[in-house]
Amino acid sequence: MTSFSYIDHLECTICGKTYPYDGLATISVCCGKVLFVRYDLPRLRREVQRSVFDSRPANMWRYNELLPVTDPDEIITLGEGGTPLLNATTLARQVGIRRLLIKEEGLNPTGTFKARGISAAVSKAVEVGARGFTMPSAGNAAGAAAAYCARAGTPVKVFMPQDAPSSNKKESIVAGSELNLVDGLISDAGRIAVSVAAEQGLFDLSTLKEPCRAEGKKTMGLEIAHQLGWRMPDAIVYPTGGGTGIIGMHKGFQELLELGWIEGKLPRFYAIQADGCQPIVKAWNDGTDTADPWPNATTKADGLRVPGPFADYLILQALRETGGGALAVSDDDMIEAMYTLASTEGVIACPEGAATLVGLQRLMADGSIGADEEVVLLNTGSGYKYLDLLRGPGE
Ligand SMILES: *Cc1c(COP(=O)(O)O)cnc(C)c1O
Ligand SMILES: [Zn+2]
Repeated sequence: MTSFSYIDHLECTICGKTYPYDGLATISVCCGKVLFVRYDLPRLRREVQRSVFDSRPANMWRYNELLPVTDPDEIITLGEGGTPLLNATTLARQVGIRRLLIKEEGLNPTGTFKARGISAAVSKAVEVGARGFTMPSAGNAAGAAAAYCARAGTPVKVFMPQDAPSSNKKESIVAGSELNLVDGLISDAGRIAVSVAAEQGLFDLSTLKEPCRAEGKKTMGLEIAHQLGWRMPDAIVYPTGGGTGIIGMHKGFQELLELGWIEGKLPRFYAIQADGCQPIVKAWNDGTDTADPWPNATTKADGLRVPGPFADYLILQALRETGGGALAVSDDDMIEAMYTLASTEGVIACPEGAATLVGLQRLMADGSIGADEEVVLLNTGSGYKYLDLLRGPGE
């Protein structure tokens, strides 16, 4: 008989030790690092054909077999996922590339792709017994957590830097979360959130310190392959903060390969960071397996202001294994690219998403991406949350 989820166990991403998934899961006991959810892919391959997904509603839960929630009634959803893969023909011509696609994640609930990860993490945590949450965030993850916890009927305490965008503070408040402003960066918010969670019996939703946010973001990869008719693009250009999206999509494509639902080479992943916070770019250029924390991180692209990503080694592994790379762009160039994306394709992008266009142009100029290729840019959020970065009339 087929299952709703083919979840099987948890696996340490450092040493491979496995654990049953029978309660709230955080990081691995053995190595203190990221746990991945593993599925019974051989059984899934025998029992399910990829065509079943076609007739289901276009949201991320259509891939329920490859998601961690076992009881359909436990899903906390606001309709996340199922976003368009736009064929950007005008921009492609302007940039000089054969085929350019934009995965438009700004259409998600709460305006960013954070909705995918938070929907998966809150649903699973509630399914295995969480009664309340803490959430450290550069901004957008807090807004998503506030909305999904409201929908779940569970309290959440969010912790964000004092200078996070006002849209993120307001969405957290309007959705009824307890907003705590931290004098510091997301790393400082993270430390406080973890200690409050431990003191008060709450579950901390820091990305990759629980295994399910990456599962939610994995569905971007599943959708891209599905939307291309079950094949992969040549390259994916991704604005990288904590790296959950790159790590998730990389894992998702590997699962699809193992299932025999796609074949061929994985897309090359390119991580785009900001000049003022580029720990992954530095590690990539230095050829190291881990990244040192970036001192005095500053950028207007708040999603990229993650000075010390916990899963640095997994991001770098994804770049290396796919033959991709990493580079940093300036805030001014990102903001200029917001105008280009909107005026050529009508996509009102967040600065993080716009950074991928700047990245693409650099990667083409240095020969990393060729003119005959098919490339996907990830616009990770809506520009409507960042209107103060844009000029008004006469400004
Ligand atoms: C969080 C965030 C990012 C970075 O995402 P990761 O998957 O953690 O690297 C990029 N863009 C926006 C808009 C974000 O909110
Ligand atoms: Zn281990």
